Amino acid sequence: MKVLVVNCGSSSLKYQVLDMSTSTLLAKGLVERIGIDGSAIKHEKVGADKFVLETPMKNHKDAIEHVLNALLDENHGVVKSMDEIEAVGHRVVHAGEKYASSVLITDDVMDALRECSDLAPLHNPPNILGIEACKELMPNTPMVGVFDTAFHQTMPPEAYIYAIPYEYYEKYGIRKYGFHGTSHKYVAMRAAEMLGEEIGNLRIITCHLGNGASCAAVKNGVCIDTSMGFTPLDGLVMGTRSGAIDPAVITFIKEKEGISAEEVLQILNKKSGVQGISGISSDFRDLEEAARQGNERAQLTLKVFAYRVKSYIGSYMAKMNGADAIVFTAGIGENDIDMREMICSDLDGIGVKLDADKNNVRASEAIISADDSKVKVLLIPTNEELMIAMDTVEILSKNK
Ligand code: ADP
Repeated sequence: MKVLVVNCGSSSLKYQVLDMSTSTLLAKGLVERIGIDGSAIKHEKVGADKFVLETPMKNHKDAIEHVLNALLDENHGVVKSMDEIEAVGHRVVHAGEKYASSVLITDDVMDALRECSDLAPLHNPPNILGIEACKELMPNTPMVGVFDTAFHQTMPPEAYIYAIPYEYYEKYGIRKYGFHGTSHKYVAMRAAEMLGEEIGNLRIITCHLGNGASCAAVKNGVCIDTSMGFTPLDGLVMGTRSGAIDPAVITFIKEKEGISAEEVLQILNKKSGVQGISGISSDFRDLEEAARQGNERAQLTLKVFAYRVKSYIGSYMAKMNGADAIVFTAGIGENDIDMREMICSDLDGIGVKLDADKNNVRASEAIISADDSKVKVLLIPTNEELMIAMDTVEILSKNK
């Protein structure tokens, strides 16, 4: 069974085709600059060839049309007819409190997603455009929505209610939602498989450390807490996002700098995080290099980042009465050997001991804790597209 996975941004679209009988990737690609001069599609047939086509694409429908042409192409394609694509899995950022798992997309689901646009104004509208374009061009193919927020819907109220007047939760839905759910779900599931245990018997702390970063506490297979909040600005220190800060800082900067609250938020989203502290870069490769050369601000930045991750690990251990495993994933989690070491240093008091040799690995699945570490530490490259395709197959089989 072949599944097309689509992840639509405002001016870009990423896609993959997977053969789910073997869970193998057949083709992937990226459309950039949709609706802007210089639109292009970059397509790769895995193990064969790549091509780039620059051609005007005025909207998401044009973009999907080019994706479908690439998939059908005699030389670079992976299907002879679109009927071979049995379903499309769409990544959607926000489903509010409506969906706690992936769903078959119906008119009611589309209405619910439009209602959630208020909560994710930059992300849900392009996600919806992508679904509409696919529905128009592939009217008989079932579509499944896979939501970034869904995995976190199992959090108990004490984890998601903010201590502000309750009426704001009731009137506007202001609460912790959490994001990166598809990634947290995938690596938690793989961790259980790698440990040869039932996920239902495990307490797992998943650390998705990429440009955007979040941790989650997964107890007996369900998420009980996560570090991102009402928006993806909360929690860990990120590439350019501040993560959690005292909210009073916002009005203080606003007054001191004579700028609007909106501008302060822009600073917290785009000019803060490790970029903001270091003044060097949002990329950990640059920061590690600068730190090695003795740059003190880069050294401080890395310490602040690690300290915040440690805080969540400690907090989630308290919330789950211990942990069986900690998982590192995403760009930094998968590649930054020194950062993993920094985060796990001096945690032997709570049962975490990294093995320096085993930790000397990048971007492949591995158990990197010492044999006598009570808490196992794992490195698991995330694969959100595979998780979306797996959910799509599952939802389809349930709805047959
Ligand atoms: P996103 O999907 O959120 O854009 P990724 O998960 O791809 O982010 O992570 C990107 C980040 O991973 C980069 O900004 C960089 O900080 C980090 N990264 C990638 N490769 C390495 C590496 N070899 N060493 C350290 N950090 C790395």
